[in-house]
Amino acid sequence: MYSTRDQFKNLEIDTIGSPTYFPTTCPIQNEYISSKVDLSIIIPVYNEEENIAELYERLCSILSVMDKSYEIIFVDDGSTDNTFQEIKAIPDSNIRIIKFQRNYGKAAALSCGFKKSKGDFVITLDGDLQDDPKEIPRFLEKLKEFDMVSGWKVKRKDPISKTFPSKCFNKLTRFITGVKINDFNCGYKAYNKYVIKNINLYGELHRYIPALAYWKGYTVGEIEVDHHPRIHGESKYGAGRLLKGFLDLITVTFLMMYKKRPLHIFGGIGFLLGFSGVIISLYLMVLWIMGVKIGDRPLLMLGILLTVIGAQFISLGLIGELITNSRNNDDYIIKYDSYEMENAR
Ligand code: UDP
Ligand code: MG
Repeated sequence: MYSTRDQFKNLEIDTIGSPTYFPTTCPIQNEYISSKVDLSIIIPVYNEEENIAELYERLCSILSVMDKSYEIIFVDDGSTDNTFQEIKAIPDSNIRIIKFQRNYGKAAALSCGFKKSKGDFVITLDGDLQDDPKEIPRFLEKLKEFDMVSGWKVKRKDPISKTFPSKCFNKLTRFITGVKINDFNCGYKAYNKYVIKNINLYGELHRYIPALAYWKGYTVGEIEVDHHPRIHGESKYGAGRLLKGFLDLITVTFLMMYKKRPLHIFGGIGFLLGFSGVIISLYLMVLWIMGVKIGDRPLLMLGILLTVIGAQFISLGLIGELITNSRNNDDYIIKYDSYEMENAR
């Protein structure tokens, strides 16, 4: 049983500015966290004021029995309630708070947390108490086998309006991306440090981290996790998530397959359309030479249209190539380099 805020209401902690209800299960350190830690826990929060204190307490109850140094990074994604004050009031120097200017979205919050993290292992979990911190040791155990591990909410405690679309979404994503996991939407995940440093997150691509990691060549594992119903606050995602998720799936697939060779897709489509246009036009030209009137034939319009659209697609591909070429951000990850190994020795 976790103690509630009220139970701590009258507890006096001699720290300026801290609320009176915080438990002292975690050591209160005076000095700032050293530059490197074993474990970084990243929690994106948006209007979760009622969940902060209890989440911290649950985290402490598990972290205090683990033999690992840690940091807890709360990324306040532009909350308009007292979330920031609630976190700030926790007297624990292992906590790092980052507050966004406005609500930029969960992917931005995670991406920022990744950049700031200093741990060898990184865990992300939601700040709404639906993910249970007691799973952290199991995640770390599984990280010995895989580069990253994703949680699977087998018994998801959400309304059917969420669970059913999520099931369809997961099936489709598994089919398209080739990543054999069951729950892409789960916010509870664990990574070896090198994985997150090599992933570029934006928009709402956080759902596709396993796919992005997999395509970079990392191994992705999965463990079943307990899931709790949301007690306080509201879900930030409605039905619109399905459409956005689908559009993001197209983005991710496109990025992974054609980011470095845009002409292959645009040029391919352009060539097919343009070639059909040219064939039609040639056929009409032969008729015209034979003396047949072609000026009022709809086929003429189609031939011209296909040729022009085809040329446009090819130009688009070439512009894409120009952009890719000028950016020069290499996508590969080097696992071994004999020269650097020798220098390192
Ligand atoms: N969240 C966030 N920014 C947003 C939306 C959500 O940081 O724009 C956080 C939210 O506070 C929670 C987590 O992301 O900690 C998951 O959000 P939510 O519980 O609403 O998603 P659901 O569980 O309904 O999928
Ligand atoms: Mg939730």
